[in-house]
Amino acid sequence: MIAQIALDSSAGKIFDYLVPESLRNRAEIGTRVRVPLRSRLVLGTIIHVISSEDAHPGLRPIHEAIGNSPLIRPALIDLARWMSEYYCTPLEVALRCVLPVSVREAEISHKERRILKLARTVDAEEISALQKIAPLQAQLLHLLNAKEGRMALTELSKVLRGANALARGLEKRGLVCIEKERVNRDPFAGEIFLPNAAPMLSPEQSHVLQEVIACIREPEQSPPLLLHGVTGSGKTEIYMGAIHETLRLGRTAIVLVPEISLTPQTVERFKSRFASIQNQVAVAHSHLSEGERFDAWYQMHSGQARIVIGARSAVFSPLENLGLIVVDEEHENSYKQEEAPRYHARDLAVLRASKEKCAILLGSATPSLESFFNTRIGKYRLLRLEKRADNRSMPIMRILDLRQLKRGSGADSILSAPLCAAIQDRLVRREQIILFLNRRGFSTALLCTACGYVCQCPDCSLSLTYHRADSRLICHLCGHTALPPAKCPGCGDPAIRHSGTGTQKIEEIARRIFPSARIARMDADSMTRKNAYREILGRFKEGQIDLLIGTQMIAKGLHFPNVTLVGIVNADLGLHLPDFRAGERTFQLLTQVAGRAGRGEMQGEVFVQTFTPFSPSIQFARHHDYEGFFEQEIQFRECFRHPPFSRLLLLTLRSAHRERAAFSAQTLARKLRAILPPNVILGEPVPAPLEKAKGQFRFHLTLRGKSASLLVRLLRPVLEKISFPQDVHLSIDVDPYQLL
Ligand code: ADP
Ligand code: ZN
Repeated sequence: MIAQIALDSSAGKIFDYLVPESLRNRAEIGTRVRVPLRSRLVLGTIIHVISSEDAHPGLRPIHEAIGNSPLIRPALIDLARWMSEYYCTPLEVALRCVLPVSVREAEISHKERRILKLARTVDAEEISALQKIAPLQAQLLHLLNAKEGRMALTELSKVLRGANALARGLEKRGLVCIEKERVNRDPFAGEIFLPNAAPMLSPEQSHVLQEVIACIREPEQSPPLLLHGVTGSGKTEIYMGAIHETLRLGRTAIVLVPEISLTPQTVERFKSRFASIQNQVAVAHSHLSEGERFDAWYQMHSGQARIVIGARSAVFSPLENLGLIVVDEEHENSYKQEEAPRYHARDLAVLRASKEKCAILLGSATPSLESFFNTRIGKYRLLRLEKRADNRSMPIMRILDLRQLKRGSGADSILSAPLCAAIQDRLVRREQIILFLNRRGFSTALLCTACGYVCQCPDCSLSLTYHRADSRLICHLCGHTALPPAKCPGCGDPAIRHSGTGTQKIEEIARRIFPSARIARMDADSMTRKNAYREILGRFKEGQIDLLIGTQMIAKGLHFPNVTLVGIVNADLGLHLPDFRAGERTFQLLTQVAGRAGRGEMQGEVFVQTFTPFSPSIQFARHHDYEGFFEQEIQFRECFRHPPFSRLLLLTLRSAHRERAAFSAQTLARKLRAILPPNVILGEPVPAPLEKAKGQFRFHLTLRGKSASLLVRLLRPVLEKISFPQDVHLSIDVDPYQLL
């Protein structure tokens, strides 16, 4: 027998090894093995087994197999193969996603503890006899008797000094035995989750749940489901009802949530609803220790866990007999992995569901254009929740036009007078406030603060990016360049510029204006301590903080009934990124942030500060009109042939030397141009908007065509023949979300 093996570091090559007699029954697809490579032993995965009698005589044998059974299920090997093809990445890189590093490297092992057990019943007489010769050993027996003859040695050591030696003494007398027991490293161990029964569903919710259940029962009869439910409409109740049915059918479920909303609040909701089977609920996120991750993985692999809640990578959970995959907030960009393999977890979830014949439910208050478009063309089925649970009303959105306000009152344009008045009002009424700033929206677009004009590419309708180095405006999709205008083409104001403010600055201003308010800030910089996030949210929930200032971190999934005001400091920040999804992202963010207001008894209000009050993203968000936004945005996409009407592939070349990166990008562009068919559009190589990052100069090249696999098929042979200077690095992003 010959096994084809993807070594963990094989640079895309597959190697053949001989299966020795001793491993005949063990060499299966998905078995992890150690094999000789030159003079070393390295790890790899069997991806194919061929029975062949005439193996090449020089073929080396597999050294050993790891574990008692294949660690990777064939279904997941399939998924990895597909990823490798689609995302144009080596198979071993795709396989890396499927096994957490601790399991892959086989260095960590299960944690065990020693349990002391009575070997037989010991009566009082025997204990008194022992008392005379070994009083401490007798005391230990007493303790053990009181605990029904079974105790962990670590527990015993806490109450009795020298418990270890005493236990060995008793073992010699044949009175006790010491056994090893596997323990789970569980970050939630010791937390008590009070059972929480499902509420009576509204008629709208019941109807949706029935549809989902029908799909779970007969997944092959149904396309993927997209649940569009406004913020607070009770989507999570639908997920939990659907999981309940899945378990009832004896199957398992995966729930994907964005890392950012994998909060203690979310986990607690699921753990409480399924409190009676708490140890069957596994949680997987990036803050687990290696040991915890290892144990969570084995919990799934062994079939103990039947529900997995996790971020992006949980789409690879090794559950068997999958009945349902839920992708909450399916529009979230954090489902896209920004390093190789650059996969999108939602897309993989849809693929995995179809391969494993299970139901798939995507949910969002602001579905991605791609997914909603799929409901229009019949690829997905649309389900709707149009009302908030308990008939709470949607928040009122007020748009503050910074162009007017600045001129009118000369007020501090960062926190305008009406917003400050509203904050003051809530402080007096002891209600809570969230101030949101999308600081990550780093922007180098040219924006006129007098009229809101933004310089755009005539061919792509994207904001042009200002490059300081050579004082030019560049379109990052097609390469169009222009000189920056001396004065605003819209209104003639010479003060066309970009202004930016961070959360720290806002905190400073807020403390000055509201000296007695209790203020906290939450962003990546202030959240460096491990539990800071939990702590601040806990204090906010208990009403010990009046005003919470933050970035994306506070936009999603949080539920605080006492928040009645949300202020969006600058709605424009994300709007003028050189990205065709900028409008969509702004709409999503405004809607999601606004959804944090008015989740209790009281009416919520949202203030949106902006220089461009009439931009469609802001206007449609104001009227809570998702479908209106969709209609308008999809036309824009069609008109300029942006996805979903085309597929995009982004090539990034980086190097510590600017010329080398630039030159390599040009060479690649030239080679591609020579072979591309006319229906594939190749952009000019341009410096990336984030031109220099971590000391590396970055150049972009984009390909657009009908399908991603077509683009990859055209690209592959070119890449095989081309070679770049040593320090030039190429990365390939299929269906990119970050165009920076
Ligand atoms: P979404 O996920 O759509 O934002 P949630 O599921 O978080 O909405 O629900 C919002 C709030 O409404 C939660 O506090 C939830 O417990 C509550 N809720 C949901 N459905 C019901 C219902 N049928 N009856 C009462 N409360 C409900
Ligand atoms: Zn352009």
